[in-house]
Amino acid sequence: MQNIVIFGSTGSIGKSTLDVLKLHKDRYSVFAITGYSNVQLLLQQCIEFMPKYVLIEKNELAKELSTQLKQQNLSTIVLNQKEDFIFLASHVDVDITMSAIVGAAGLVPTYHAALNGKRILLANKESLVAGGAIITQAVKDNNATLIPVDSEHSAIFQSLPFNYTSLDDIGVNKIILTASGGPFINTPYEQLCYVTAKEAVKHPNWSMGQKISVDSSTLMNKGLELIEAYWLFNAKIEQLEVVIHPQSIIHSMVEYIDSSIIAQLGTPDMKTPIAYALSAPDRIISGSNKLNFEHLKALTFETPDLKRFPCLELAWAGLKIGHSACAVINAANEIAVDLFLKDLHGFYDIPRMIEKAMNKYSSISANNIDEVVSLDSEVRDFCKSL
Ligand code: NAD
Ligand code: MG
Repeated sequence: MQNIVIFGSTGSIGKSTLDVLKLHKDRYSVFAITGYSNVQLLLQQCIEFMPKYVLIEKNELAKELSTQLKQQNLSTIVLNQKEDFIFLASHVDVDITMSAIVGAAGLVPTYHAALNGKRILLANKESLVAGGAIITQAVKDNNATLIPVDSEHSAIFQSLPFNYTSLDDIGVNKIILTASGGPFINTPYEQLCYVTAKEAVKHPNWSMGQKISVDSSTLMNKGLELIEAYWLFNAKIEQLEVVIHPQSIIHSMVEYIDSSIIAQLGTPDMKTPIAYALSAPDRIISGSNKLNFEHLKALTFETPDLKRFPCLELAWAGLKIGHSACAVINAANEIAVDLFLKDLHGFYDIPRMIEKAMNKYSSISANNIDEVVSLDSEVRDFCKSL
């Protein structure tokens, strides 16, 4: 029996994780869950999974949850301090942590899970984008295991041997990330200036949280994923490639030096990568639908249009500048997306804001977790002031 903490259990990935865990109650036990505002869902999850701890930071919400748990005669302990993220990530009884918080808020729990040698299931790509150098070093130094949940990175992980020392040693030539292209794949440049948040969050293939849905519409999601792949697989920048594949059936590919390409395919359902992250190298049932080839009409591919989707180019630039520039991009993008979601600025104000932040902060270096957190917050303040 392995104990798991789900950071962000009330989100899209958190809920899918619990759906998978429901199928494997003999193998995994939910030790703790965390949420941000949805007390009712946390309560339901406590009733169903009976975790030892539940964490919700806002004081009044923690009190409300505590009262409701008592009414249900449940002994789950309610935590509500910032340090409790570290308490849970480093708890001796915890074997596995699921990083499913959205944004750089997931950085600290992910880092502390690494410091404490946990098996980390990583959905929260922003923590690697902001702190890739520091987290991967902590993973190495403390014998932690970092396993991708992002569907593209899970596909790459599944297309590589389970244990390898370097991509060169196993003859990898290229890592090819596929991108659906998002809801605006065919929208002309002139119209993109006027698209709204409501249109942006309607992803054609995946059902996800709001922030990642906007990121998919600007292709910044693919930009963040390039940076994530760079750190996860210790790749060279020139080994990374992005191809648009609107059907989201091939989740990504690895090209080897003999020109073989190994890909992973499946229906677009995060339960598959979540199940593999839990059990790899074993396989367990995920609850996802099987792919039906008779219903597949075509698999098509095209080159990303960097003029219409400049966020992808900014991410390439950040990767070339270095890890602190990636932290700047991540923080600026979070603020820019938040403003876009509130209809306070337009689609192309997102890359404009990121570029301004990069011009101002890219030369600053952040070499430990505190410096990354402080750079992140400085960039956020700067973007808000704009
Ligand atoms: P979501 O918005 O549905 O859920 C986010 C979770 O984080 C919620 O539980 C919320 O309560 C919590 N949260 C939000 N702000 C917080 C804060 N400041 N402090 C603590 N907790 C906070 O998001 P999601 O779609 O589940 O995505 C989660 C992460 O997984 C993101 O990093 C995303 O990029 C990544 N991811 C998601 C998908 C997907 O299909 N949804 C796919 C690949 C990767
Ligand atoms: Mg992805």
